[in-house]
Amino acid sequence: MEGGEIKTYDVIIIGGGPAGLTAGLYTSRSRFDTLLIEIGLLGGQMTTTELIENYPGFPHGINGDELSRLMEEQAKRFGMEVVSQEAVEVKIEGDMKVIQANGTTYRCKALIICTGTEWRKLGVPGEKEFAGKGVSYCATCDGAFFKDSQIIVVGGGDSALTEALYLTKFVKELTIIHRRDSLRGTKIYQERVFANPKIKLLWNSVIQEIKGDSIVRSALIKNVKTGEVTEISIEGVFLFVGLSPRTQFLKGLVNLDEAGYIVTDENGETSVKGIFAAGDCRKKLLRQVATAVGDGAMVAFAAEKYLEAK
Ligand code: NAP
Repeated sequence: MEGGEIKTYDVIIIGGGPAGLTAGLYTSRSRFDTLLIEIGLLGGQMTTTELIENYPGFPHGINGDELSRLMEEQAKRFGMEVVSQEAVEVKIEGDMKVIQANGTTYRCKALIICTGTEWRKLGVPGEKEFAGKGVSYCATCDGAFFKDSQIIVVGGGDSALTEALYLTKFVKELTIIHRRDSLRGTKIYQERVFANPKIKLLWNSVIQEIKGDSIVRSALIKNVKTGEVTEISIEGVFLFVGLSPRTQFLKGLVNLDEAGYIVTDENGETSVKGIFAAGDCRKKLLRQVATAVGDGAMVAFAAEKYLEAK
């Protein structure tokens, strides 16, 4: 489709992770003209997850990239269209929702937002400068570059623990640096981390600065209890300090909570009639592939009811 052209759909989905792909599967199976807009890879964060162990139906886990391809194939089989563009603005014109994406204007009757989250930045000196030169937010993308090296992983949640376990395939030794004295992540991952001889834990500690020349060489670590600062030699820093919702482009349009997550009713409808939200970008208790898929199915059904009532 050329820039400037306007195309109208029954349903537009912004974001192609598990929530968006499931919503697209449902609305296209119900024969609603459906477009999915995604700037990155279909599958979203799943595509960089080595093994998804808690998605039912796969007793030995499934590779995230493979699950993404299967979900994509299933949704496309029923006619869902996909464009590789970034949605930058949404406006309301009467009953229609108008989306601007890389110079193209799309219109739809029902809009489903599934934009997920992105990695939160730590904001310490050296983080920006050494991004891609030793600082990483993706173990499956960059892990292999750190063969036999010493690295640090920051964070104590599920991401930090699962990614640290994955990184032990490559590195000589890694240290998990956590700002408290107990981990947030799921117990089964904690057990595996504690049992892994390649993983050390440094409690009550934060990174103060990442240092190097053309690549990362060391980090200044501060003990938050004693205030003591030590410099340790490392070749890589993997940061997993949580996620922020990708909802900035919706500010002023739908209600967001203080952290930027989209506030919806129990059916996934936002403060604007005909705009729904599903998956990690929605305000909710648990953000997993299983809950994203459930959300996607639920909002697709709610959007269908909205369209049928019109
Ligand atoms: P998270 O659960 O929010 O954990 C973030 C971690 O980073 C916490 O341990 C937090 O410390 C630490 N942190 C935050 N800000 C920091 C700062 N400025 N300096 C130092 N440390 C900081 O994020 P996540 O691990 O990315 O997980 C996000 C969601 O995805 C969760 O719902 C998680 O269950 C889910 N997830 C699930 C799986 C799985 O089931 N396989 C895998 C990955 C992610 P505190 O603990 O002190 O707050």
